[in-house]
Amino acid sequence: MSRPIQALINLSALQHNLIQTKAMVGAARVWAVIKANGYGHGLLRVAKALNQADGFAVASVEEAILLRQAGFLHPILLLEGLFDEAELQVVLQHRLDLVVHSHHQVDWLLAHSVKEPLHLWLKLDTGMHRLGFNEEGLHQALFRLKHHAPHFKCHLMSHLACAEDDHPLNQQQYQRLLAANQTYQFKLSLANSAAIQLAPTMHLNWVRPGIMLYGAGIAPQHITHFKPVMSLVSRVIAIKWLAAGEGVGYGQTWFATRPTCLAVVAVGYGDGYPRHAENGTPVIINNLRVPLVGRVSMDMITVDITDHANQIKLNDPVELWGEQLSVDEVAQHANTIGYELLCGITQRVKIKEL
Ligand code: PLP
Repeated sequence: MSRPIQALINLSALQHNLIQTKAMVGAARVWAVIKANGYGHGLLRVAKALNQADGFAVASVEEAILLRQAGFLHPILLLEGLFDEAELQVVLQHRLDLVVHSHHQVDWLLAHSVKEPLHLWLKLDTGMHRLGFNEEGLHQALFRLKHHAPHFKCHLMSHLACAEDDHPLNQQQYQRLLAANQTYQFKLSLANSAAIQLAPTMHLNWVRPGIMLYGAGIAPQHITHFKPVMSLVSRVIAIKWLAAGEGVGYGQTWFATRPTCLAVVAVGYGDGYPRHAENGTPVIINNLRVPLVGRVSMDMITVDITDHANQIKLNDPVELWGEQLSVDEVAQHANTIGYELLCGITQRVKIKEL
């Protein structure tokens, strides 16, 4: 048997989550956000399962080209638009839609007298202060586009900074987007997963779900309607007893306070399991919830199974996250977010589609 770490990707869960998302947003259209290799699940397999989305949103022309080469005809949105003028040729060749967040991108678009009716999503910075025009910049950009390229199809979008929380900035961002659009009446897009779940008024014309499609980042009131897509699984590769007072692992960050049974599991930060997972991070072994103890190493973790020593044996199945343990919960124990864990699965983890 080879090293037993695997990421199981449940494609019917992905399809199910898209159906649930569509039911939640009614008439709004759905950009399925599949950047970063489909949030670590595999770009093309995810796109195939999300075929019923209205479009795909990615972060690079390379991802967009892979989708077109695989035969996907959907609208594809480049979420950060052009990084460089030369990418415009690829955009035209592959009929990609662009976010336009800065004047230099407008310069590039107008320098090439593009004949095609490109779809542009002008990005307004409503408070995130990352990408996007302020109101004055937006009006200037649109003025130039209208005069020099009236055949372009313009739309308006923004991105929320605190959508997971009941934060006053959410309403301010929403109102700024609506106010900026008063003179234009463009199609609007604002909501990511959190806003889709928590703020129905913000669905507008196009929503942009990412994490919720993968069954993570689900608000408690919706949790029963979504299914985790990735399960990171492995096996117990050694079991040993320690005497009270003995320490475990690099730096000896955990000490046994009683005679302790340890299970060693084949997973580590070399697979994308977070090195900062703290003592007590839950792990599922043989369907039992048991605590990680000691530092996460590159290839292994150690788990205290003393309370279940007679129920756990060599080679038993382990779930690091998945159906019995949410990736969000594991992430919290590592002071990070589920997104980072899903995106961080490394090359050596074998993928198995379910
Ligand atoms: N829209 C934009 C502009 C994004 O950058 C992202 C992801 O980072 C999303 C939508 C999807 O966000 P989420 O995964 O929280 O739904």
